[in-house]
Parts: sequence; structure tokens; C-alpha cells
Amino acid sequence: PLQAAGKMAGTQTTCPYCGVGCGVRAKVGNDGRIDIAGDETHASNLGRLCVKGSALGETVALDGRLLYPKIRDGEGDRKVLQPTSWDTALDKVAHGFRRIIDQHGPDSVALYVSGQLLTEDYYVANKLMKGYIGSANIDTNSRLCMSSAVAGHKRAFGADLVPVCYEDLELADLVVLVGSNTAWCHPILFQRIAKIRESRPQMKLVVIDPRRTATCELADLHLPLKAGSDVWLFNGLLSFLARAGVADDGFVAAHTNGMAAALEVAEEDCADPGAVAKICKLDPQDLLTFYQWFADSQKVVTAFSQGVNQSSSGTDKVNSIINCHLLTGRIGKPGMGPFSITGQPNAMGGREVGGLANMLAAHMELDNPQHRETVQTYWNSPRMADRPGLKAVDLFQAIEAGRVKAVWIMATNPVVSLPDADQVQRALKKCELVVISDIMEKTDTNAFAHVLLPALGWGEKDGTVTNSERRISRQRAFLPVPGAARADWQIICQVAQRMGYAGFDFTAAHQVFDEHAGLSAYRNHANGQHRMFNLDGLRGMDEARFDAMQPVQWPLATAPSGDKQGTARLFADGRFAHVDGRARFIPTPPRAPQNAIDSEYPLSLNTGRVRDQWHTMTRTGKSPRLADHVPESFIDMHPQDALLYGVREGMLARVSSRWGAMVARVQHGGGIARGTMFVPIHWNAQTASDARVGALVNPVVDPVSGEPEFKHTPVRVEEFPVA
Ligand code: SF4
Repeated sequence: PLQAAGKMAGTQTTCPYCGVGCGVRAKVGNDGRIDIAGDETHASNLGRLCVKGSALGETVALDGRLLYPKIRDGEGDRKVLQPTSWDTALDKVAHGFRRIIDQHGPDSVALYVSGQLLTEDYYVANKLMKGYIGSANIDTNSRLCMSSAVAGHKRAFGADLVPVCYEDLELADLVVLVGSNTAWCHPILFQRIAKIRESRPQMKLVVIDPRRTATCELADLHLPLKAGSDVWLFNGLLSFLARAGVADDGFVAAHTNGMAAALEVAEEDCADPGAVAKICKLDPQDLLTFYQWFADSQKVVTAFSQGVNQSSSGTDKVNSIINCHLLTGRIGKPGMGPFSITGQPNAMGGREVGGLANMLAAHMELDNPQHRETVQTYWNSPRMADRPGLKAVDLFQAIEAGRVKAVWIMATNPVVSLPDADQVQRALKKCELVVISDIMEKTDTNAFAHVLLPALGWGEKDGTVTNSERRISRQRAFLPVPGAARADWQIICQVAQRMGYAGFDFTAAHQVFDEHAGLSAYRNHANGQHRMFNLDGLRGMDEARFDAMQPVQWPLATAPSGDKQGTARLFADGRFAHVDGRARFIPTPPRAPQNAIDSEYPLSLNTGRVRDQWHTMTRTGKSPRLADHVPESFIDMHPQDALLYGVREGMLARVSSRWGAMVARVQHGGGIARGTMFVPIHWNAQTASDARVGALVNPVVDPVSGEPEFKHTPVRVEEFPVA
């Protein structure tokens, strides 16, 4: 590993938690203690780390780790997971997949992967599934956090392109945070905003969120809109901006299509701010203040996250935001633009290699024959999936229905994290072959495995991740390989080779990265046009250059040299990725969340993260320091609702929906509206019984993106009798 100079010499690597993608320096001391510090040379965090990042050294101990392959062996009910050799485990996976494909066709098998994987892992998984098995049944847990942003970008820009960078948050006169508890979920971005406001007190911050979160503490204005009403709010803004005369007519005429149709839809229901305020349950004056600030501020960044994406109208919410930036021409220039902040460390890297069931590598499309041919020719693969595969929720429903008979799950815990999580249990119980690659021995999902494959974890593996601002950074190994664990890309290649497929003879991560970077250049050459996704400048790196690679933002068209920084922001020339180079306004007729509350289930459940835990706690759960912040799961609800439904603060209560139930302690956080409640996503059956909130969440998805509606499920609450 690269030994960097600086305040603390150590291996330069990248934090494995949120999509901010902070640079980390890690050093193992003589006593085995791991020192962690922020990397002051990394442009995303400039030496800062949040509490989760700082505690990384406390989460890498080997207790609970899966160290050797295991297969389920024995007779009938006595079948238990037994240690085995890699050869036996890999043969079982390869032969099992081969047999099922031969009997039932390529669509009878599936991979379900994760934004925790490195880009190299993601790349070979997609290559195996789409180019060799010949099915697009590979989806990812990133479907749960940012697929609506992907779909919105593609509709508006012609490709999944994030126009802005973190610096834009510091250059803006107005930052709007929508559906994002940035202070807790992307803490370093929030710290950057807080810091810049010290020197730029005129900069305004508006937070749009049904809950009064920690992020609101810094806000000049908090708009606690009714959950799910975002499209009304932004359609109202579009209408207001047009009437206020701040449309950039020159930009709209030269660089966009479809403004009149989008505006007509917006005006239909949302021309009157008073009516919009009523629908959104907002103070009309506050709403007007926001509209006026937006109209008056040339430099506006509208950053959004799960509160926007995780909705049955998530894609429309994204486009209703982008529409406002297109109308005012506030995109492609410093300090302005719509900004999707991704949840996971490598959600963006997965998107680059076609990690979603409806995408191909290098930002190509499965439903485009020319793109399919380009990828198949580059891979020299025997076949190519010719239609989109099953998205996450549909995938597990297809398993339960018996249409998918083998699934390989990598680095994710769907029995906890997917909506209608009890359905996921039923599906895995029924599935003929469940293969799981993980770092942990026991998770709620691993209990259903027929084959368990030990993967390398953070600090042990090598490769790249891409953060929310398109910055590719290296994750580097600084810890020894534990037990018999292997890199995910290596495990996938070894299964592919056993299935008889050529094209998987990589021996190191840099070789996979080189093929991935080469595909973007090949795409541009084959399609005869310049494309905005371009890693041409990162081709041809040998092991030493890959090891020394510094963080860089794509697109990067020329060879990397010295301190080259790639491209900070896109669309500076007003050209977008649609064939005609023009962006699209998308009409966004507003609609309410799909399942309405009723007398049986009268409360609306919202789910999300807490500051110091990550996903299903398999790593952060190891740190007592992190557990101190929020020691157990909770049901945050309004005191009046608690009174109404017969529960009290501190009491255990049972929350149930039409899909499942869970138990946690009631609390009144103070920031929750009447008729709603909030439960964190992290706790599970390994940490506490019946604590999986996913079991309650309705499996409703956005029709365009397939992203589930995690922010609204009708539920009821009642006292949980303690024996
Ligand atoms: Fe890690 Fe995100 Fe914290 Fe940065 S902000 S240290 S990437 S968890």
C-alpha cells in the first residue's frame, strides 16, 4: 500500500460508509491498534471525518467474521452449515447455477449485490450475469436508495449524470436540502456547509423535510412538508419562477425541450402557492419565502437524498426539482445545480458498470441494440441479456413464486433491509440454491444460505469506489487476509471459470479496473460520438500506477498525470447527453403515496438512519462508542398520538402494518408531526428480537425506478405486553 506523507503516515484509503466518500489514513500500530485519521489531501473531506469514520478502527476485529467457506450438509432437518474447502464450495455454486440454468433457462438464476462492493466486484458480477449467463437478473441494494435519482437523471439529461460537485455547496447563495438529514447521514458535507457559513453568513440554507431533524439546527428556514407532497411543492416553485420572470429564456430555448408541457402540468394544480401550502401542510408565508429566495438567488444547489428517492413517485420528485433548475438555467456553472447525494460508498461506482437490472456497463442501455452489441463485442462474450432483469422487490417476489430458483447475494442483508422483509424470508426458505458472500458469519439473511463464501472486508480489499460527486478513490488493503477470505471479484471469477466461461482470468484488481476503463473508451469509439462518461484517461495503469492512483472525478479524457483532477461539473457548455444535446423538462403530475392511511392503520411510518450506525449494524454494531449515541431501536412519535393510541414514552410498543410487525421503545424526539412516526432501519433479529422495521414496510415501488416507498407505510401502534 501507498505510504503517504502527511500528519499521520498511513495507508490512504476511503471510508466504506456513506456516499460522501471521505479519504482516510489508516495505520496499524505495533500493539495492533488501528489509528484512523482523515486524509487531508482528499478533496471530498480535506482531513475531516465524522464519528462513524473515526471509529473505523473499532469495527474491524475478527469476532463474528466468516473466515472459511461453509455448505449446508446433513440430512433433512439436521442440515447445518459445515466448514468446507474453497474447491468444494465453488464447485457447488458453479454446478448448482449450471444445472438450474440448463433446466430452466438463464432467467431462473439471479445475483443480488450491494453498494458496499467495490467497482471491480460489481464489474465482473455484471459481466458474468449479463454477458455470459445471458440474463439481466442482477440488481443491487442501491435500488433502495438512489435508483429514482438515476431514472430522473436519465429522463432529464439523457444519462445518469450528476452535474455538480461538493464545492458547489460552498459556492451557492442558497442551499436547499430536500429529504436529507445531512447532519446525520452525510455528516462531512454538512460540516462543509456549516463551515462555509461562518465566512459567508449571507448564504441561506433551507431544509425541506417532514421531520425536524438535526439538519434543521443550521437552517434559515425549515419546511416540514407533508410526507410525499414534494412534487406539489416543486411544481408550485416552477410555476412561481415562471410568473416571477426569472426563467432563463435563452438557456431554455437553446438547451432544453418540453418546458411548455411541464409548466402546463405544474400550473394545473400548483399555480396558487396558497393551495400548495395547504396540500403540503405548510405555513403559506414560509412557502412563499422559500419560493422568493429561490427566485432571487442565482446560485442555488438543491441537494436531495432518500426522502425524495424512496417514494412511489420518487422519479417524478427528482424531475420536479431538475425542472426548476432547467427553467432558471441554474446548472453547469459553479454554485448551482440539482444534486443527488448517494447513500452508499459505491452506489455511483455500481452505476458506472451497469449495476442495476435495467442498465449496461459504461452507462449504456440494455434496451438499445447498438449498446448491447458494443458491450458484447468488447467482452467477446457468448451471449448478451436482451431485456431488463428483475428489480430488487420483484426479484424476491419471483423467488417466492418459484420463477427464480437460485440467488447469489453479496454484501447485503435483504432479510432486514428490503420492504416486506418477511416475504424475503419466505422466498429464501423456498429457494433451491441460496449462495451468500459476506464478511460476517451470522446475519438474518445468512441463516438461509446453502453456501456461505467468506469475503474480504474494508481494510483487507483493494479496488475503487466512486462517491456522490463522481470522484473515484482507491480503497487499499492495510490488514492481513483473515482466514481463507477472498476478494469478491476473485470469488465471482472463480465461479465463472468453473462454469466454463472465458474472460474471467483476472489476477489483480487493477486488471479489472483497466478493462472497465477501457469499455468507456471503446463505447465512445464504437458509437462514434463523444460521451460524458469517459474514463479514457485512467486506462493502461499497471499495478504500481493503480496503487498510486489519486482521487479523480470522471469524466477524465486524457492520460492522468501529476495532480490532474478530472471534471468538477458537467454541462458547462449547455450540452446534455440526449442525442440532440438538449435536456428535457419532464411533466410531473403530482400523486399521493400509494397506500393511504385508514382507520385500521391510521399512522404513516417513515424510516431512516441514525447518526452513528450503518445499515444493518454488522460493522458499526461492534463499536460501544457508536452504540452510545442511540443504544436501541425506537419508535419516535408525537406525544398526542401516543396518548391517543395508549402508549407512553419509554414503553415497549408493537407497530404493525398489513405486511408485518416489530417491537421497540416509544420516544418523543420532538420533531415529528401528528399522524406520523419514525423508526430507524438498523436494528434486526441479531441485535434484538422482532426489531426489523423492514418487515412492516409496504412493497410499493416507483413505476419508473422500482425504488420502494420506505417513507410512507400505513401502520398502527399498541402497547406490547411485557410478561
Ligand atoms: Fe465516512 Fe460518510 Fe462519515 Fe465521511 S461522512 S467519514 S464517508 S460516514
